[in-house]
Amino acid sequence: MSYAPIIAIAIIVILITLFILLLRKDRVDELRTKLIEDALWVEQNLFFQLRTHEENLERLALEISKGQDPEVVLTRLEHIKGIHPELQIISWFDLQRDEPLTLPRGYNAQPITAPLPRFKAWFPARKDEQLNEVLVDFQVPIFGANNQPTGLLRTSLSLNQLLTSQIPWWVAGQYEIVLVDNNSDRVIARRVNTALKTSELSYSMSVDPPLHGVRLQLKPYTSGSTSTQTLLIIVIVGLALFAIISLLVQYYYARKRQQAEHALLDEQAFRRAMENSMTTGMRARDLEGRILYVNPAFCRLVGWEANEITGLAPPMPWWPPDMVNETLDRHYQQNRMPTAQSFETRFQHRDGSILDIQVHEAPLINNQGKHVGWMGSIIDISSRKAQEERTSQQAEQLQKTAHLMSMGEVASTLAHELNQPLSAVASYAAGCLNLLEDADSSPDDLRSGLQNLAAQNKRAGEIVRRTNDFVRKREPLLKQEQLRPIVLDSLSFIHNEMLKHKVRVMLDIPEADLYVMADRIMIEQVLFNLLRNALEALKNQPLDQRKIDINIQTRGQYALIAISDQGPGVAPEMMPLLFQPFSTNKVNGMGIGLNICRSIIELHRGTLWYESSASHGATFVFTLPLAKHD
Ligand code: ADP
Repeated sequence: MSYAPIIAIAIIVILITLFILLLRKDRVDELRTKLIEDALWVEQNLFFQLRTHEENLERLALEISKGQDPEVVLTRLEHIKGIHPELQIISWFDLQRDEPLTLPRGYNAQPITAPLPRFKAWFPARKDEQLNEVLVDFQVPIFGANNQPTGLLRTSLSLNQLLTSQIPWWVAGQYEIVLVDNNSDRVIARRVNTALKTSELSYSMSVDPPLHGVRLQLKPYTSGSTSTQTLLIIVIVGLALFAIISLLVQYYYARKRQQAEHALLDEQAFRRAMENSMTTGMRARDLEGRILYVNPAFCRLVGWEANEITGLAPPMPWWPPDMVNETLDRHYQQNRMPTAQSFETRFQHRDGSILDIQVHEAPLINNQGKHVGWMGSIIDISSRKAQEERTSQQAEQLQKTAHLMSMGEVASTLAHELNQPLSAVASYAAGCLNLLEDADSSPDDLRSGLQNLAAQNKRAGEIVRRTNDFVRKREPLLKQEQLRPIVLDSLSFIHNEMLKHKVRVMLDIPEADLYVMADRIMIEQVLFNLLRNALEALKNQPLDQRKIDINIQTRGQYALIAISDQGPGVAPEMMPLLFQPFSTNKVNGMGIGLNICRSIIELHRGTLWYESSASHGATFVFTLPLAKHD
C-alpha cells in the first residue's frame, strides 16, 4: 500500500505524456494535410502565373505577326516587364534586324540564327552570369505572312523573383519554399525566412512542365507549440520526480518515526515492567500538590487506582483527617526551600487502615531547569514500626520479668537467709524472757543473750544489705564473642547434674570459630535454661534415650544454635503458653525461663523458637547475629 502513491504518480505522468504525444501526432497529421494542400495551392499558383506569362507573350507574338507597330510592342513589353518583376529580360528577335530589342536596354542578348523554331518552348534553368541570377527562358515564335517564322519573343524569368512575387506572405510565413533541380538536387530558388527553424516535415512536387526537371519543396516552420509541449512534458516529469522523491523522503522519515515509536514502546514496556516490579511507591506532584504521576506500588499502598488520583488536588483522600493541616503546612514549607528531604508521616488506606510511611522527596526540575514540583519515594514502614514497638514492649516485658525474677530470687534468698538469723533472734528473745522470769539469773546472762540477739539481728541486716547490693539492674552489654567458649562454659555449669542423671551431650560445632555479637552472661543464662529444661525432660526417660544434641551452624548473617533432647517433647497443653511467663507444668517450676530466654535472644536481634522434632523430643533453636571478626 505504501508504494501506491508513487505508482499512481507514475501512471499519471505516463498518461499525460501519452496524451501530449497523441495530441502532437494529431497535430502532425493535421500539419501534413495542410502542408499538402498549401503545396498544391502554391504549385497551382506558380503554374497559373507561368501560363499567364506564356499567354501574354503569345498574344504579343500574334500582334507582331499581324503587323503591330514596333513602338507599341515595345511599350507593351515594358508594361509587362514593369508589372511582373520576375520577368528579368525580354528580347524581341527579328530576322530583319541585326540586333534584338532587349529589355532592360543594354542587356547583351546573343543574336539568333536560322532556322527559327516554329513552336513555343521552356528551357531548363540556367545561371546567368551578367545578372547573377538563376533564370528560366521561354520563347514564342513570330510568324510572317507566309506562315514562316520571322522572329521570336523570349523572356528570362528569375525563379527567386517568381517565388517572391507570386507567393503571398501568409503562405511564406508558414513554409520554407524552395525550387530544387532534380538532376543535381541543388536548390535553385528560395523563399526562406532564415530566422525560423523548419520541422522534419516536408512535401515536394514536380513543377515540370513548365519548369523542366524542377520540383517545388515546402517545409513548415516549427511553431513554438512543440517546444512548449516538450517544456510542459519536462516540467510534468520533473514535478512527478519531485513528488516521488519527496514521497520517498517521507517514507524514510515515516520509517524512522516508526522505528522510534517501536523503540519508545519497548522503552515504555520496560518502564512499565520496572514500575510494576517496584515495591517502593513513587509519586510526582506539582507545586500546588496536584498529583502528576503515581506508580502501581503507590496505588497498592493507598488503595486508589492511578486514574482516580492523577490530577487530584490536595487534600488527598489518603491523608488521615488529623494530619491535613500538618501536611499542607509541610507542602508550603517545602516549596519555600526546594531541597531533597526525608520525613515520616502516616497514610490512611482506602479501607481505613493507617500506615506508617517514610517519604523521601526531591525537587522535580523540568528540562528548562525550572522547579515544577516534587518527586517522592514512599515506603511503608508500618511493619518496621510494629517490630520496633514489639521489641520495645518485649524489652519492657523482659525488664519486668527480670525484675520479677530478681524479686523472686531476692525474696527466696532473703527468706532463706533471714530464716536462720530471725529464728535465732526469736529463740534468743525467748531465752531472755525466760531469764527475766528466772530470779536466779544474772544480768550478765541476760546481757550475753541480748548481745547474741543483737548479733543475729545485725547479721539479718547484713543479709538484707548484701542482697540489696546484689540486686542491680543490668543492661545487656553486646560484645564480639566467640560462640564455642560460651557453649562450653554453660555446659560446665550443669556438667555435674548431667553426670548424675547419666545424660550424654553431643556437641556439633563447625571447625572455624564463629563470632557473635552477644552479652556473654545473658547467652550463658539462655543456654543454661534450655539445657536445664532438656535435662529435666530426660530425667525419667530410658537410659539410652538420655541424650542432648547441641548443633551450631551459620545461616546467612546468623549463627543458628539448636538444642534437641530425646525426651517426651512439649506437652500439647503447654504449646500455646510455652513462652508466656509463669506457665509451667512442673511442681517447683516458675515458668519464666523460656520467656526470659526469648526476651534475651530478641534483645540480641535474634529469634528463639520451638520445633517439635519428627522422631521424638523437643528442639529449641535460636539465632544470633554473626559478628565480623578482625
Ligand atoms: P519452668 O522450666 O520453670 O517450667 P520454662 O519457661 O523454662 O519454665 O518452661 C516452661 C514449660 O515448657 C515447662 O514447664 C515444660 O512443660 C515445657 N518445656 C520446656 N522445655 C522442655 C523440654 N525440653 N521438653 C519438654 N517440655 C519442655
